[in-house]
Amino acid sequence: MEKLTNRSVQVNRSPMTIGERAYLPSILKGLGITLGHIVKKKATVSYPEQKRPFSPVFRGLHILNRDEEGKERCTACGLCALACPAEAITMEAAERKAGEENLYREEKYAAKYEINMLRCIFCGNCEEACPKDAVYLTETVMPANYNRQSFIYKKEDLLIPNPKQQG
Ligand code: SF4
Ligand code: SF4
Repeated sequence: MEKLTNRSVQVNRSPMTIGERAYLPSILKGLGITLGHIVKKKATVSYPEQKRPFSPVFRGLHILNRDEEGKERCTACGLCALACPAEAITMEAAERKAGEENLYREEKYAAKYEINMLRCIFCGNCEEACPKDAVYLTETVMPANYNRQSFIYKKEDLLIPNPKQQG
């Protein structure tokens, strides 16, 4: 019992002022903080109507590029898939047939090219590895979706429109 008495702390119980009893200082302090937040620059943006500027090194959705004549650049060499640490890229190569010279730049092309965006970590290795400047990461943010299958981007989704076929 004696030990407990030795540890006791003296509490300052000075009587509250009228202002303190009416909670006025605390109310005014709270209002000040609220008003401060109203005039302060907001950290949030109304996405997707409003977009915030990205870093110049931001990497977003991929595109498959065409050359200046509108031909597909990708030759299905597979280097991007090899360089991908997430194994997100799958492709099937095919040989160009007679009459398809306007479609594909070289004799081999990607008949199928898919990127699983749920696996992709947007590292940019595929872009670095591509010897044909065929795959690029753009500044487009990947949109949300409702099912996993929608995150597998096929060649039709990735390939940029042919400028020669646009009106
Ligand atoms: S950005 Fe990286 S993770 Fe994504 S597909 Fe390319 S290499 Fe793979
Ligand atoms: S995108 Fe580039 S690296 Fe990938 S298969 Fe096509 S040519 Fe090769």
